[in-house]
Amino acid sequence: MIDEFFILRKDGLNLFHIILEKDSYAVQVPTELFAGFSSAMVAFANELGSGQLSKIEIEDQIFVFNLSDKLITVAKISTDDDEHLAKHIVALLEREFINDYREELKNFRGTVRKDVFFPFSEKVHEIIKKCMKVAAKNPHLLENIPPSIDIDAILTLSEYSDELIENFPDATIRLTREFQSKLPEGEMHYTMFKLGLEVGKEVAKKKFNNRQINDKGIMKLLKEISICSMNDNVISLQICPFCRGRKTKEFDCDFVSGFIEGAYNNPNIAVREINCHAVGHKHCEFQVYKI
Ligand SMILES: [Zn+2]
Repeated sequence: MIDEFFILRKDGLNLFHIILEKDSYAVQVPTELFAGFSSAMVAFANELGSGQLSKIEIEDQIFVFNLSDKLITVAKISTDDDEHLAKHIVALLEREFINDYREELKNFRGTVRKDVFFPFSEKVHEIIKKCMKVAAKNPHLLENIPPSIDIDAILTLSEYSDELIENFPDATIRLTREFQSKLPEGEMHYTMFKLGLEVGKEVAKKKFNNRQINDKGIMKLLKEISICSMNDNVISLQICPFCRGRKTKEFDCDFVSGFIEGAYNNPNIAVREINCHAVGHKHCEFQVYKI
């Protein structure tokens, strides 16, 4: 999947490099040359002002770039590999690297003692393995989840996801609550909504033999979760099992919004929560926007 992986400083200093797949026919990338070249290309792209450097393609090789404040992280893959997945892995690895070596990076003066970063090799193998596992089970899950979410949490979710869909509604509620509690505040709403989309879509497909469902179908699904009603395109959950017992400042039931939208599986329909029991409203209510 990833042939080589680099972590460079923006000024062109090579911090970490690992060869993951040895192809005896391929010419190995000259590391120092590549580091200087990447740094120049990133600066050049910034000069152009129309966005960041995201990849460089040479014949059947692709260099996938991820940029942060001070680092350039790059994976070399081939054109047969999944570029989206590579992008996610690269971003995850960069996050882990910054977490693991925060102090070293702060005090780094330029004299390279690369052995400081050697132990990261193990992490590279481990994270790639986990990502491949997730991607094999749920090809689109990683696309929907920002790289700031811990890969172990995603792996947990992915491992349970079949069960989650199959055992709707019982396991769905328990597992989503458990998963939600593991997410960092900043990413929670987005991630839970995306997860809801995926689960809603699959559950509806399964229950209705792949037919697109209407309001009646949606209500039939939701009645398995809670006492609910629908009036003027507002769905009301009288007792919402997802936020039961929780008190929050922000609306809490992003999973349900996503679930309903996913179950409609209609590009002209969007769903958002407009009242939530967790913030003190009487019921959780969801507006169905039909374009
Ligand atoms: Zn709610």
